[in-house]
Formats: sequence, C-alpha cells, structure tokens
Amino acid sequence: MDAALTADPSKTTAKPILQLVNLRKTFGDFAAVDGISVDIREGEFVTIVGPSGSGKTTLLRMLAGLEGPSEGYISLRGELMNDVPSNKRPTCLVFQSLALFPHKTVGDNIEFPLKVKKVPAGERKARALELLNMVRLPESYYGKNVMRCSGGERQRVALARAFAYDPDVLFFDEPLSALDYKLKKILEKELKDLHRESGKTFVYITHSLEEAMVMSDRIGVMRAGKIVQIGSPEEIYARPADRFVAEFFGEVNSFAITRDGYGKWMSDGLAKPVAITAGKEPASGTATVIVRPENMRFIADETGADNAFAATIFNEYALGSRIQYQLRAQKRTFLVELPRGAATTPDADGKVLIGWDAADAIVVEG
Ligand code: ATP
Repeated sequence: MDAALTADPSKTTAKPILQLVNLRKTFGDFAAVDGISVDIREGEFVTIVGPSGSGKTTLLRMLAGLEGPSEGYISLRGELMNDVPSNKRPTCLVFQSLALFPHKTVGDNIEFPLKVKKVPAGERKARALELLNMVRLPESYYGKNVMRCSGGERQRVALARAFAYDPDVLFFDEPLSALDYKLKKILEKELKDLHRESGKTFVYITHSLEEAMVMSDRIGVMRAGKIVQIGSPEEIYARPADRFVAEFFGEVNSFAITRDGYGKWMSDGLAKPVAITAGKEPASGTATVIVRPENMRFIADETGADNAFAATIFNEYALGSRIQYQLRAQKRTFLVELPRGAATTPDADGKVLIGWDAADAIVVEG
C-alpha cells in the first residue's frame, strides 16, 4: 500500500479542535451548505474536495469567520465561534489570490501580523527569518520586493505570513490552483512537510482529489452542500460510499447490475453475468459495480480472472509510466490501465481477453 494513502493512526485519538454541528448556509431558498457536522482533530490535515458549486468555499468562509452560518454552530476548542469576527479568531485563511502587500518587501509582508501585535522590530526580524527558513526561502529574500518574486515564491511568502499569526488552525482556499503542474507537485509535498513540522491543524479545500490524496489525513467529499463521505484517503479510494465518490476519483468502469430470476447479476450490454465476491452482494436487486482501470488486466484465457470478456482495443493513451487502453467488448466500452511494457497480444481477429477479479470491484447500492 502506498504510504500516502494510509492515515496516520496517531491522529485518530487526538481531541477535536474544531467542531461543526449541523452547519447550514442559505442564500434565499438555496442551501449552499446543507447540514454539515464534522469534528476536526487537533493537528489533523483535513481536505474538503468536491466539484465546482458544491459549497466548499462557502463552508470555508464560515469556518474562517467571513460569512455567518444560517443555522448550526462552529466551535473551536469548545468555544462558540459563530459571532466571533474573523480577525478575533485564532485562525488564518490562505487564499489563492494571496492578498500580499504588493509594494512591500518579503520581510514587511511576513512581519505584518507581528507589527499589529506590537512585537519589537528586532524580534520581528528574527521571527521573519525563521519563517523564511521554514518555507524554504533564502534569508536574502527578506529585503526583496514581493513583486519580484515568482508565483511559487509568493505562495511561500503568504504561507510564512500566515504562520506569523501563529494561528491554531490554518484554512487554505485552493492556494496552489494558479501554479503550474510541476511547482504544484513540489508545494504539495512541502505543505505536507510543513504541516507535520508545525503540528498545526490544516483545513484545505480543493477540487483536485489528486492534491487531497497526497496531503491529507482525512478527505471529506462534498456534493450539493453535504459531505457525502469523510475518511482517510485509503478509505475514500478503496471503499467509496457511492458512485459519485467513486467517479470523482477519475475514470472508472461502471456497470449497473440487476439480479435476474436465477440470482445472477446481469448488466446491460454484457452477455455473461458479473461475478461478485461473497459478502459484497448488494442487499437490493439493483446496484453498481465499479472497477478502476488499474484493476483491469489482460488475461491469457477465461480462467485468468473472475470476470473475463473478449475485447478489441480501439485507443491507446500514454500516461507517463502507464498506458491506458480503451476497448470495446460486446456493447460496452472498457478502460484498462497497465504499466508501460505490459504484454498485450491481440489474436488473429485483433481481440484480446480482459478481466478483473471480483475482489477488486467496488459494489455500491443503487
Ligand atoms: P468552486 O470550486 O467553483 O469555487 P465551491 O464548491 O467552492 O465552488 P461555493 O463557491 O461555495 O462552491 O458555492 C456553492 C453554491 O452557492 C454555488 O451554487 C454558488 O453560486 C452559491 N453561492 C455562493 N455564494 C453565494 C452568494 N453570496 N449568493 C448567492 N449564491 C451564492
């Protein structure tokens, strides 16, 4: 198992620092956040993911005190926060747009919260230099105009400034979304390290599940104002609560199945029943079987997997170290993803056998 997918067990017994109880935010008749109850533990890195419009920003704005809840409450270390203004909360929000002072130096930007607290100049500078080290910027950047910094460097300055507030909880609103892919990957890992080193509680929102998977102890998946599942990255990946969560992870093979009169599970467009692991059998007569492309494989004969179908390859995409194949089998399209170099030998008619094991399939009701 990939270490990044495993939740840190030490986090599971920590006390809740932030409690959201039946939190709602309505705009007219519309509920942007529709009854969210979650306990966030001290030192946790929790990421809320969801498609555009699912209510992530509205939720975070309420947590940061920029928006008042319509119903429910937010408590921090047991203290009700609903009516506490943003600047009086022991929390800090890091934006996508950064909100740095453009004509000031890196040092002035980082020291701003300390200046407000009337920390003496010498102490402020010492702390700013410490924070520069923490966010991996050279100390020589202290006197540099912030506008002369690159996008990634500015992101680090914003982070250092957030830490200068010494908040109990840091909120992040898609801080990496404007950066290029490579820099994003570097900063994701740095943010995770920073989280571990600082011991602070991080609540992060993004629409990128990939980003969430790399960094988080727990991921909450939002849909239409509700959290439909919250769990470790491994739980969300391996045991998605429903088809929406499974499909949010990217492309999957999904088969709507119905139990026939003989107790077999049939799916439209497949001539053979779908084999399901004992114990995963759906309680109702209809369900969806989801098989991730990486859990499909090419097999030599029908005994090579619990479910086997003859298929024809019609597309092939190189995904770096992996290759994704699009195949047609009977009346269905299948996606199979294999490590580069894995054997695929079509027979004389251009057919291959593809299959998956029942244990690798996810079965969700409905
Ligand atoms: P994105 O990923 O695109 O930022 P999101 O998940 O953060 O989306 P929100 O910005 O929280 O979603 O918006 C949730 C819903 O609430 C949307 O339908 C949005 O139009 C609506 N909404 C948000 N703020 C307001 C407002 N001030 N007045 C009316 N509707 C609003």
